Amino acid sequence: MTLYRGTFLDTPDDPFTGGLLRTEQDGALLVRDGVIRARGSFADLRGQHPQEEVVDLSGGFVLPGFVDTHVHFPQVRVIGGLGMPLLDWLDQTALPEEARLADPAYAAGVATDFVRGLVGAGTTTALVFGSHFAPAVDTVFAEAARVGLRITSGLVVSDRLIREDLFTDPDRAREESLALAARWHGVGRARYAVTPRFSLSCSDPLLAACADVLRAVPGVMLTSHVNENTREIETVEALFGCDYVTSYDRHGLVGPGTVLAHNVHPTDPELALLAARGAAVAHCPSSNAALGSGLFPLARHRAHGVRVAMGSDVGAGTGFSLLKEGLSAYVAQQLLGEAGHPLTPTHLLHLATVAGAEALGLGASVGDFSVGRRFDAQWIKPAASTPLDVGLTHAADAGDALAKMFALGTPADVRSVWIEGELAGESVETAEGAPALVK
Ligand SMILES: [Zn+2]
Repeated sequence: MTLYRGTFLDTPDDPFTGGLLRTEQDGALLVRDGVIRARGSFADLRGQHPQEEVVDLSGGFVLPGFVDTHVHFPQVRVIGGLGMPLLDWLDQTALPEEARLADPAYAAGVATDFVRGLVGAGTTTALVFGSHFAPAVDTVFAEAARVGLRITSGLVVSDRLIREDLFTDPDRAREESLALAARWHGVGRARYAVTPRFSLSCSDPLLAACADVLRAVPGVMLTSHVNENTREIETVEALFGCDYVTSYDRHGLVGPGTVLAHNVHPTDPELALLAARGAAVAHCPSSNAALGSGLFPLARHRAHGVRVAMGSDVGAGTGFSLLKEGLSAYVAQQLLGEAGHPLTPTHLLHLATVAGAEALGLGASVGDFSVGRRFDAQWIKPAASTPLDVGLTHAADAGDALAKMFALGTPADVRSVWIEGELAGESVETAEGAPALVK
């Protein structure tokens, strides 16, 4: 067993319904086989377990590993394509790069970059938009398994309106998806997600094939995009003769295992339908800002009872850090004025951890530091004398410190990451004797 000593912050009680930030100052977590077995003050736990190895994470703060509920594996190398709305950005920036993943060797290099980017940002669990090419999807599952990252991913399918070299057909989509699910779903920490790119690029027969896979494999998820950009929405409504959420729902694709990204421009009936189905929305604020998609109506989602979590949406999103996404979410709500939902740092931490775990059906396993959870964690320890280090040193309390982490924190401040009690990535001992991530 290992005793981790440090200041632990987490959000087991939902701040949207009055829950407070939980703080364990000079606390300890006792971890055996990757699972938290006890928690309390360091003095108490050390007294009860005098023989156990101690990993000292004093100084800085230990947060639960982040849960990114929307991030595109093929797009790590095209982050930063600014200045275009969604459909132009797809044509000119994202999809040409996605086509390059037809080459499995190229895909393998991208998979390495992608997984390193996630773990380096303190993300330990992710719902990953895969590739249009099955061998490339194998590469991202294989790299995640090698590093220990907990991912849910799948084959992206499309058969119209985007570049033709990314097309499949319903029979091939069904066959390749079932084969990938057979290879990866439930293997180690991997799970499968049926992944129509967006209904704009998917015919009804292709969406029906997606539904076949969803029914055939117990426990798989479904992920896609919805209501991101007004021009996109008009096209979908013209193609299907119904609203965007219904274009999925009439194939049985909207349920408790569904995560739809964006939903910047939903109608009230769509929000009511998402809530009735128990589906979750991945809020991706830096992407929404970069593509000019709009400001996310969080208060309307809350009012309808729709579950919301965070996604980085790399590569339309501007990086892997859910600290930055949290800040972007806060800013978007501020810009909405009276229509915005005020967000505290505790809300932001909850959205980036517990809410994501629940959206992915993993709430009993990860997302906070309660006894019985897996030890998925990140140690935020900025370099000495940086503005974040100064801010943490002078923070009034733990909530203030958390606000400074969201305002100033970057992947450079994530010193170490553990997934199920194992150090993730290639780690080294620092001069201080504590583990650090090689980036
Ligand atoms: Zn996306």
